[in-house]
Amino acid sequence: MTADIINPATGQVTYRHELLTATEVEQRLAAAAEAFPAWSARSLQERGAILRAIAAQLRQRRGDIQQAMTTEMGKLKGEALGEIDKCAEACEFYADHAADYLTPQLIDTEAQRSYVRYEPIGCVFAVMPWNFPIWQVFRFLAPAFMAGNVALLKHASNVPQCADLILAVCRDGGLPEGVFDVLHIDNDQAAEVLRDKRVKAVTLTGSERAGRSIAANAGDQLKKCVMELGGSDAFVVLDDADLDKTVAAAVKSRFDNSGQTCIAAKRFIVVDAIADAFVEKFVAAAGKRVYGDPQDEKTTLAPMARADLRDELHKQVQDSIAKGATLLLGGEPVAGSHAGYPATILDNVTPGMPAYDEELFGPAAAILRVSDDAEALRVANDTTFGLGGSVWTSDAARGEAIAQQLECGAAFVNAIVKSDVRLPFGGSKRSGFGRELAEHGIHEFMNIKTVYVA
Ligand code: NDP
Repeated sequence: MTADIINPATGQVTYRHELLTATEVEQRLAAAAEAFPAWSARSLQERGAILRAIAAQLRQRRGDIQQAMTTEMGKLKGEALGEIDKCAEACEFYADHAADYLTPQLIDTEAQRSYVRYEPIGCVFAVMPWNFPIWQVFRFLAPAFMAGNVALLKHASNVPQCADLILAVCRDGGLPEGVFDVLHIDNDQAAEVLRDKRVKAVTLTGSERAGRSIAANAGDQLKKCVMELGGSDAFVVLDDADLDKTVAAAVKSRFDNSGQTCIAAKRFIVVDAIADAFVEKFVAAAGKRVYGDPQDEKTTLAPMARADLRDELHKQVQDSIAKGATLLLGGEPVAGSHAGYPATILDNVTPGMPAYDEELFGPAAAILRVSDDAEALRVANDTTFGLGGSVWTSDAARGEAIAQQLECGAAFVNAIVKSDVRLPFGGSKRSGFGRELAEHGIHEFMNIKTVYVA
């Protein structure tokens, strides 16, 4: 079977590739199982040296990788380069810190010696999305390699060249054969891979729909899974917020990556006292985003990754307007574009509208007006999602009190929610479970083993 890759900026087919046959998948599963004992037996120092070499490869090939990202999913050139650098830093971070995270922990009991040891589990299957086509993969791979695991990647079907470049930098960085490979397969083949006994666990970043399917399969096989799913993060603006700083952050969080970020601010919950002033500045600033060729450095709003995703977003916007939301900006697909959608802002968003109840995975912001801090908190938590959230105020203590009560995996005060290799990342509620990054992330796919010597 072949798959066509369409450049979302032009609508042209730019690449065509073959999916793997069952025999080719089998070869890669066998190679992963064979590579595991030797790889896990290597010292942390050796594995760290390879990760540092992979980081160097990423930096050396950043031009090629950026081109692939921009052509395949439309990412702005500058954003793509930043993403590649972040991956290189994550590799170095885990090379530096894995020894601390994996040191056996002595625990005082009545035994002569009792402690916790962290042991690798084998082959982990990674199913990854297109929105951060390099970062989503490396934030899993870097700790997985340091843990001593091996990995197979099924990347989103619209970013195959990104997947191949990830494999190339790993190989050129000296990663032994079999420790990592890419499976160009469809979702039925992915389900088979997960059922294979040589695969010990699965990690997914993607939609709730994919999460239900993969987690059900993993549950059926009693295999560990980590689910990083969607979000509809609250961006809570209190009456004492510094408006200019808050508006700049709101625009960045909502419209970077054409809004296709799980931790983007999506619901702007603004207290009445400051709402009109915030909305006026937000609309003015968002209106300055310029849609265009993502390779052109003057472009500040990228196309969406696929036309079907743009159409889905437009339907959510239209349905919200039909149910009473006020359109303040944008709201119609960019004329003549393949997958372009303008910066869009909906005001007076209320329950029952898609903009309130669902994730808007594109450049469309929902404004929810509330009377005070208490209502802001209630509305912020009135969602099935629980990924991140932020609070904007001149009083950090007041913001922190609200942040602590947000039902989510990461709550920020006066800062945009972002992933940081030093901090754990993951969701609650229907945004998923399990953690990536930091110490928590490396332990997810390890056997946390108790040793007790009486
Ligand atoms: P998907 O969840 O369909 O895709 C993410 C990854 O999961 C891809 O590799 C995809 O493969 C794979 N996948 C999907 N279904 C299955 C399955 N049943 N078994 C195995 N693998 C599967 O996302 P979409 O591309 O359709 O985007 C739709 C929505 O998903 C967005 O609007 C957004 O809400 C959410 N999303 C969230 C992301 C996040 O960062 N949390 C990232 C991307 C999307 P394939 O491409 O071959 O179908």
